[in-house]
Amino acid sequence: MIEKIEEWVHQVNSSHRDVRRSCSVLADHFNGFYSPNFLKTAFFVVTDEIPKPDFSGLREAGLGDFIDMEVGGITYNDTYYVKKKAANEFRLHFHELVHVLQWRELAPQGFIERYIREIQDFGYDNAPLEKMAYALDGHYQSKGRPFSVEQFVRENL
Ligand SMILES: [Zn+2]
Repeated sequence: MIEKIEEWVHQVNSSHRDVRRSCSVLADHFNGFYSPNFLKTAFFVVTDEIPKPDFSGLREAGLGDFIDMEVGGITYNDTYYVKKKAANEFRLHFHELVHVLQWRELAPQGFIERYIREIQDFGYDNAPLEKMAYALDGHYQSKGRPFSVEQFVRENL
C-alpha cells in the first residue's frame, strides 16, 4: 500500500512538472523562515482539482473521510497543490512548505506511513504532523519572530 501511494505521488508530480512553479517566488514573503536555497527546491501547482490518491485499500484503512475532505492545499513530497482561489494565501503556502520539509526529513515512505497512522490514531485535526504545520503557519500569520523552519522541523519530528 505504501509503495503504491509512493508510486502514485511520483506519477502525479511527474505529470505536473511542466506547470509547477518554483517556491523561489515566495522568498521575500518568507524571509527569515525559509532559506532561498530550500525554496529553490520546492514547487507548487495552482489547480482547481487537488489530486488525491483514491485506492480502495485506503478507504478500508479508514481514510475515506480524509480522501473526501475539502482542502485548500496538499503536499506530495517536494510539490504542493493549491486551489486557485487559495493561491494567494501566504499562510497556506507556509503550511504546505512545512509538509515539504516533513516529507524530506522522513523520506517519502516514512512520511506516508506516519501520516496514515496519525490520521488513523488521532484524526486529521489532532495528527501531530498537521498540528506542527498549523502551529508554524499560525506563528507566521500572527507576524511572529522569524526563525529557521527547516531547523525547527528537523529538531521536532
Ligand atoms: Zn497540512
